[in-house]
Order: sequence, then C-alpha cells, then structure tokens
Amino acid sequence: MPTETFEFQVEARQLLQLMIHSVYSNKDVFLRELVSNASDALDKLRLAALRDDTLDADVSDLHIELETDQDARTLTVRDNGIGMSYDEVGRLIGTIANSGTAAFLRELREAQDGAGTEGLIGQFGVGFYSGFMVADEVTLLTRRAGERQGTRWTSRGEGTYTLEKVDDAPQGTSVTLHLKPADPDNQLHDYTSVWKIKEIVKRYSDFITWPIRLVGQNGQNGEKGDDGEASAPETLNSMKALWARSREEVSEEEYHELYKHIGHDWREPLETIQLQAEGTFEYQALLFVPSHAPHDLFNQNFRRGLQLYVKRVFIMDDCEELLPPYLRFVKGVVDAQDLSLNVSREILQQDRHIRMMQRRLTKKVLSSVKSMMTDDAERYATFWREFGAVVKEGLITDPDNRDALLAVTSFATTHGDDGTVTLKQYVERMPDGQDDIYYITGESRESIDNSPHMEAFRERGIEVLLLTDPVDEVWVDAVGEFEGKALRSIAKGEIDLGAREDEQSEGEREKQAEDYAGLLGWMREQLSEDVKEVRLSTRLTVSPACLVADSSDLTPALENMYRAMGQ
Ligand code: ADP
Ligand code: MG
Repeated sequence: MPTETFEFQVEARQLLQLMIHSVYSNKDVFLRELVSNASDALDKLRLAALRDDTLDADVSDLHIELETDQDARTLTVRDNGIGMSYDEVGRLIGTIANSGTAAFLRELREAQDGAGTEGLIGQFGVGFYSGFMVADEVTLLTRRAGERQGTRWTSRGEGTYTLEKVDDAPQGTSVTLHLKPADPDNQLHDYTSVWKIKEIVKRYSDFITWPIRLVGQNGQNGEKGDDGEASAPETLNSMKALWARSREEVSEEEYHELYKHIGHDWREPLETIQLQAEGTFEYQALLFVPSHAPHDLFNQNFRRGLQLYVKRVFIMDDCEELLPPYLRFVKGVVDAQDLSLNVSREILQQDRHIRMMQRRLTKKVLSSVKSMMTDDAERYATFWREFGAVVKEGLITDPDNRDALLAVTSFATTHGDDGTVTLKQYVERMPDGQDDIYYITGESRESIDNSPHMEAFRERGIEVLLLTDPVDEVWVDAVGEFEGKALRSIAKGEIDLGAREDEQSEGEREKQAEDYAGLLGWMREQLSEDVKEVRLSTRLTVSPACLVADSSDLTPALENMYRAMGQ
C-alpha cells in the first residue's frame, strides 16, 4: 500500500522543534505522557463497548505494555484500547487542536530569553510529541477498535510525517521510540533500562487504573523461568484509586501526578480537595484547583466537568453536571457507588442524586477556598487572581450560595495595605455616618484612578472598591446590598457626601446656583443631544466637569460590553 508524506501544521512543527532541541529538562516525563494516552484509549474503549454491544472489539484483557529492546535501542508503549482511524491519526497527531497549546506557542514566541522559554515549556503538556525529547524517530501503529484496517505513522520530527495503511495491525495503538543515545548530563537516560522504566512508572503512573506490564526485555536478562520460557509479565503499577484511600495514606506527589494526568497540566495544582460521602448514596471525590487559569476559560466551548467513575470504572470525561459553570476550572474525579454503568448524559441531567452531589461538591469547594483564605493568604491571593472573575459569576447565577460566595470574594480597594478587602472588612471599617458601600467599575485600575468621579472620595478619604472585571457590572446589581448596606456606584446618580469643613454653606451654594443659572441653561441647550442634565456638583475637586449616569442607566463599561455584543 502506498506511503504518503504530509507536512506538519505550522504550530505542530514549532512544538516539535522545541522537543527535538529539548528545551524541557526533565525528559523522563515523555513516558508519563504516552502511558496517559494509552490509559485514555483504554477508558474510551471500555466505554464504547459498554454503550454498543455490537462493537467488534476485544475487551477481555485491557492493558498497557512496555517493551524494551537494547539491541535495537527502542522502547515501545502499547495498548489494546480504542485506537485511531487513518483520518484520526492525521488529524490528532499531525496538528495541534488544543487551543491552550496554540496560545502557549504564541507566548513562547513572545518570550525573548532562553530562561523564560524553559520556564514556559515546563508548564505545558506537550503530550504525544514529548516522545521526540528522547527519540530521533517515532513510529505509531494503530487500528481503531471495530475497524479492519490499521495505520502506520512515522516521523523523525523534522517537518514531515508519513502515513500508510496496513492490513495486519492489532487492535489499539503501539508507539515505538527509536531512542537517542543516552546523555545523562542532559537528563537523557537509558530508557531501555528496565530499572529506569520501573522507576518512572512508579513515580508518574502508579495510580493508572489499567495494568502496565513489562514484557520482552530483549538484550537484558529479565526474569526467565528455569525452562527458559519468559515468566508472566510483571505489572509495574499498583492501580490504587487515590480517591478511595484516606488522605494520610497518599503522598502529595501522588495526588499531583493524578492531577497532571486528568487535568492535562504539567504544573502542580494549587489545592487538593477530598470528599468521602457515606450513607445511602455513597461516593468519593478528589478535586483539584489548578494553579493557573487555562487560556480558554472564557471561551464558549471551554471543556468543563469532572471525570465520572462508577465503582472504579471510568464512565466519562467532562461530566458537567457535577459542578456549576462558575467552578468550571475545577478538575477531578468523582466515583459513585450506586449509579448504573450505563448512565448517560440525559439521565445525569435529571438524576436527583447528581443534583445532591453538585450541591455538596460546590459547598465543599467554597469552604476549601474559605479555609485557604484564613490559613494561607498568599495561596488565596493566587486563587483569586486566577479564578476570581469566574467565581463572581456565581453571585449572579447561584443565589443559594451567595453568602458563601461573598465570603470568599475580595476586591481591590483605595484603602488597606495589601490592597484587597472583603465586603465584611469594608463594612467593619466604615466610619460612622457612612451608610453605603461605594464602588466604581472600569476597564483597568489606571482608568479608575484617573476617573474624575474619584476626586471627592479621595479628598474625603472614603474607601472605594475598584471593580475591573466585566462581570462586576452585573453582579453588583444582582446582589444589591451586603449586611443591609447598599452597594452604590460612585459613577451613578447623585451622591450626597455631606459637606467638608472647608466647604461652602447652603446659602453660598444657592447663590452660586443663581450665578451660574444662565451658563447651565446654555450648556443644557448646547448638549441636549448628548446629556440629560447639567448641574453644579460637589463631586469634583480638580476636574472642571464629569459625566454622570442616572442610577438606572448602564454604566459606561457595561454599555461597551453590550455594544461589543452588537446590542
Ligand atoms: P492529549 O492527550 O492532551 O489530548 P496528546 O498529544 O497526548 O494530547 O494526544 C493527542 C491525541 O491523540 C489524543 O487526544 C488522542 O485522541 C490521540 N491519541 C494519542 N495517543 C493515543 C493512543 N494511544 N490511543 C488512541 N488515541 C491516541
Ligand atoms: Mg496526552
């Protein structure tokens, strides 16, 4: 059958170049990536077979195999999972579909110095391509479960790859790395060494729920039986479900490796949250808050949701029903004891138990954030910087948890040392005589600081909350007040700040109004197309004039938002 040659997509080529020139120092992780893909492929097949009993696939012994060959200097990672069709190989392996990776590449291009590059690449999963850190040629042989014909993909990572249809491929995928010479000074180890392979699997992939077996160690005196026959292959991983074990039994590192597998992230999580619910509807949950917001968090089609297991069997990725959209950045696993293995998305949407789980998991996440806030201010600050804008959506959409949400919401402020404050703290330090909570919205801290609306407040030393996320416009209206104190925009309507000592008396002000009546009338006429009213104000101390919206009007930022949406 003819072999066709294709060019890698531009982004893919760039990523490959980075791999080949090994910007990433810890090269051992390539194996974690390949094992992770194999594990996903087994999950998918397990599920496909469950859904479709006419699927012509063998699911009797799903597993992962690692085979080393010292003479040929190869390492093969093999699974008998879902496999890929000819088209899928071209689409999934030849291009970079993941928008996060594409954004990462842009960032990388912008980073000038080599050190910055190293830091960046360490943060992003490069998946399958990481094989090119240790190999100068990679061959992938795959056959999609249920299909007759297989596909062979080969590349040296240099701009092109070849595709070929093959007749005799086994079900699933095998990836063979033709290894570069070992170079321990550059952390490039001998990956035909059984000892090394065992160490890496133990460290990064122990929790994988499928057996990872070591087979055919050509060139090494593996454990052969007395009669010269190879003994049964050794399983390298313990396959323990971390979520079912108590926290004391599991190391931080083990949790983190699980996170990296399910979160497709190379960085450590910010927070690990465990929940074991007992009683009539039993389930275990292990949730992670990432340390960085993904690039596509605000995209319409952001893939959110947790992994759902039923009695240790993987059921689905991206189960959206388990957490509300405003916690869409949370990753993790939920393992329920009493759901059917055949549970579908339609059933999930209506299931009473799923709704109960969502409520409980939501509260658990919010209480963890609350503890973070009291126990580790720095960590909370990171959390809020990365995810605050998303969490605040909950103030609009989840009235039941509004108090819990307000308790973990913080704001930039004109007052205070560290620059942020909660509503509770704001109210506590409100001086006598102040009845409202003042805030201003805007696109950036800078534009707010320069706003003429701020002048009178600055002059009088009144604290103002500085809100710069688009969602702020909306939730302040939805929430309205806190502990009986109204949330008041300083850019809307009339605000009576009372007189300062050095200010004019009532009489003086009246006289001034008379003096200026002519001018104001003239201005009203001239500006009638653009403004509703022109009046004298105590609001300003330096600027000669400012625009003020009616209390019921949209604020300028929201007007911009709607305008951008074409409304
Ligand atoms: P990711 O795993 O984050 O999606 P990868 O680069 O690791 O990114 O893999 C890209 C895609 O290639 C996977 O999403 C999957 O669809 C496909 N793939 C990779 N390895 C396998 C495999 N062993 N079996 C089936 N599909 C695979
Ligand atoms: Mg992967």
